[in-house]
Amino acid sequence: MYQGNYLAQHLRASSSGRDDAIFAVIEGEKSLSYGEFFKGAETYAAALIKRGVKPGDRVAVQVDKSIEVLKLYVGTIIAGGVFLPLNTAYTPAEIEYFLGDAKPQVFVCAPQKKDALKAISDKCKVGALETMDSAGAGSMYDLASTQMAGIKAVARDENDLAAILYTSGTTGRSKGAMLSHGNLWSNADTLRDYWGFSQDDRLIHALPIFHTHGLFVATNTTFAAGSSVYFMAKYDADAVLNAMNDATVLMGVPTFYVRLLAHPSLNKETTKNMRLFVSGSAPLLEETHVQWQEKTGHAILERYGMTETNMNTSNPYDGDRRAGTVGFPLPGVEVRIMDGETELPVGEIGSIEVRGPNVFQGYWQMPEKTKEELRDNGFFITGDLGMIDDRGYVSIIGRSKDLIITGGYNVYPKELELLIDDIDGVLESAVIGVAHPDFGEGVCAVVVPEEGATLTQESILDAIKDDLAKYKQPKKVFFVNELPRNTMGKVQKKELRDIYKDTFSV
Ligand code: AMP
Repeated sequence: MYQGNYLAQHLRASSSGRDDAIFAVIEGEKSLSYGEFFKGAETYAAALIKRGVKPGDRVAVQVDKSIEVLKLYVGTIIAGGVFLPLNTAYTPAEIEYFLGDAKPQVFVCAPQKKDALKAISDKCKVGALETMDSAGAGSMYDLASTQMAGIKAVARDENDLAAILYTSGTTGRSKGAMLSHGNLWSNADTLRDYWGFSQDDRLIHALPIFHTHGLFVATNTTFAAGSSVYFMAKYDADAVLNAMNDATVLMGVPTFYVRLLAHPSLNKETTKNMRLFVSGSAPLLEETHVQWQEKTGHAILERYGMTETNMNTSNPYDGDRRAGTVGFPLPGVEVRIMDGETELPVGEIGSIEVRGPNVFQGYWQMPEKTKEELRDNGFFITGDLGMIDDRGYVSIIGRSKDLIITGGYNVYPKELELLIDDIDGVLESAVIGVAHPDFGEGVCAVVVPEEGATLTQESILDAIKDDLAKYKQPKKVFFVNELPRNTMGKVQKKELRDIYKDTFSV
């Protein structure tokens, strides 16, 4: 099926001949079979072609999560287009940048935003503006429902683009990471085998689908295995726990696990049907890993990936899942630790570079940026700092831009955060560098105390003073109720640096 279209053909292979098998169980609705899903995707493909989508044209989408969005994603692939999901939090001003940069042929937005986005869409010469609401209804659905299923897939090979995902862009403009049919399929194929996915699995899908984690890791792996999903519009701890009765896998960001740990019903009994808990997109605290194992008997499997590369490393399915590490390079993926042009030995911290069939094709219309980050030999400079230990486990130490240089010395925030998190009464912490008149940057710790704990700057500094060289010790400790995080659970250090930027100003 879908002969000649590399990704569509692979995504359909495991379910072909199994049209009645369940693909999705949708909250509050009946389940959707594989046959129904792909028929729906074909009608979207036909609708997109009717709206002028030609091979390689972008289909931009900024809508709430629904199963129709997934059909639209697969429909875009079948139509030979390039799927371009946008974070639902972006404002019209931000959308103007993305539309102007990507020049999509079709843009699908929420109906309530259509008026605000019409002029922008015209200005950016978008071919057609369509709508889709949180239930999947709107002009895009209406058009698709007048189309026949059974369309012949548009030919695309493994080097053709399947998607563009914009990076979150904490420094400067967001960059559009170009992912090919081969990039997406190679990762799904690998993850299915590495994590032991089969037709018997049911994955709890509570992640957003404008990001690589929910869109590709969760969804493509499910297609690759011909398994099914519990499809949830958003994360809700009660609903996730209920689903565990007959689900087998959860993919989540660390916050999912932290919130579930606070739920009174989480225990060995309520998780007994589950075979795998995966965490990624942000660091999982060792404490969360330990508590989870105590309460449920399951060791969370932590993995490491990014928009530009899909997944790079994973803790083993069979074997020691080590808290605080992201495991081994996945089959076919190479990971090396570099200091500039020199590869570093085991145990040393440096810049993480990756190479493999998962690594993207470059940044959309940014050849200079692509050259800076993607080496001629295929290694991608991830912007993460890390190390590989003598057993081959990779650990992430942080983003290179979060590295603090104080008085000429390097301070890795993670080293301090691990020590501070271990102090009695500390829930979690983030360590940042802010401008300092003498040292260039001064180290600050932002600490979230556990409920009822009484902590002071002195008590924190006292607890770590014997473990850290003087230059690494925070010059200032702040206490907050919670750390700022984005929807993927990543701590927003830039926001913290902005808040505390005048700490040492004279
Ligand atoms: P994104 O492109 O939004 O998926 O963000 C990718 C970044 O998230 C990576 O470059 C890492 O900095 C971070 N990240 C992803 N997974 C992990 C993990 N398991 N532990 C620590 N950081 C992670």
